[in-house]
Amino acid sequence: MKRGLLIIISGPSGVGKGTVRKYFETNSALNLAYSTSMTTRSPRNGEIDGKDYFFVSRETFLKAVDNGELLEYAEFVGNYYGTPLKEVNRLRDSGKNVLLEIEVQGAKQVQEKCPDAISIFIIPPSIEELEKRIRGRKSEAEEIVQQRLAKAEKEMKLMNQYKYIVCNDDPKLAANLIETIILRNIEIEQNR
Ligand code: 5GP
Repeated sequence: MKRGLLIIISGPSGVGKGTVRKYFETNSALNLAYSTSMTTRSPRNGEIDGKDYFFVSRETFLKAVDNGELLEYAEFVGNYYGTPLKEVNRLRDSGKNVLLEIEVQGAKQVQEKCPDAISIFIIPPSIEELEKRIRGRKSEAEEIVQQRLAKAEKEMKLMNQYKYIVCNDDPKLAANLIETIILRNIEIEQNR
């Protein structure tokens, strides 16, 4: 059996990565598995531990870093986020194409360790639209919203580190583009 692909999806906070993902992750032709990250951030309303994230203490997170349990990790607006390595390997070994939804610093670490990873950056139609979406979420204090917006502008400058750039003007259309990218890469890999 062929080892599954590693697919990195990044994009500024509020761009709608999760919404876009919901439209394509159920497409069985993509044979996807979503890698659940570990984070020290508190759960938002409706988020489920073990599904959206593994919500852990700083101490637990730093222990995982020391033990080499993370494929990559980064600090983002005051919290740590990281990808558990063992689960990614297990899924890829079972033939699944593994999806990482991570920010730019982590993506860079993965690209260095796994140069074959497929990298996709999602951009908003405009910065104004992004601000509207972040505010629309109403889950964060003004200070955090400001930090996330400043971070978004910095992240957007790094989009050329990615192989594919997809604009999320319409989530269904963005999802269709991502499906096409993944399907074509599956085809390329099968013909290798
Ligand atoms: P949020 O707090 O909005 O859920 O996530 C903040 C940022 O961290 C998003 O850009 C998200 O994609 C990213 N992120 C989520 N999980 C990971 C991870 O495991 N590693 C890294 N480097 N970034 C992550």
